[in-house]
Amino acid sequence: MINFTQLVLASHNAGKLKELQAMLGGSVQLHSIGEFSQVEPEETGLSFVENAILKARNAARISGLPALADDSGLAVDFLGGAPGIYSARYADGKGDAANNAKLLDALKDVPEAERGAQFVCVLALVRHADDPLPILCEGLWHGRILTEASGEHGFGYDPLFWVPERNCSSAELGPVEKNQLSHRARAMALLRQRLGLQ
Ligand code: IMP
Repeated sequence: MINFTQLVLASHNAGKLKELQAMLGGSVQLHSIGEFSQVEPEETGLSFVENAILKARNAARISGLPALADDSGLAVDFLGGAPGIYSARYADGKGDAANNAKLLDALKDVPEAERGAQFVCVLALVRHADDPLPILCEGLWHGRILTEASGEHGFGYDPLFWVPERNCSSAELGPVEKNQLSHRARAMALLRQRLGLQ
């Protein structure tokens, strides 16, 4: 069991901080990296794991606290795992609607059986900036890519992601339900176990 009461989260996203804090529970306090610096490191890794570690090390270096980072995205089987770590900027930074349009186009005429995909979340926790043994927890959420958008909740690729266990898109799930099923929830459940929080 590893004992932390304070962690810095390597993200400026207030929504993500709130979501991860809720999943982590009250015994660990998450601080935003924004309390220490506004500068974001370049994500130069080729994998979710590399980028999560890189962000966690940077946050630990800047804050002097143990640091948690998450890296997430959508990996589509037919596209060899793309957009993967480039999910946020798949359509060259033009935003969610453009990303979704590009994905639909890339899968035009691809039959349902070949439209498998997973949301991926990797959480990396480092005790300090040079920690040689980061704690890594991976969460996968399997589904498939729809042929048109459906649902109003969520963000990113949610309207295109069919959730087989609920027979709806992830944008049709409310936030509470999504937070029980999602890739982030699965990775966080593993992290809670590793930290002895459950
Ligand atoms: P981030 O690095 O965790 O902010 O996520 C990278 C990108 O992956 C986001 O900008 C979205 O395009 C996509 N993504 C990650 N998680 C989700 C999700 O839960 N729903 C929809 N899209 C997601």
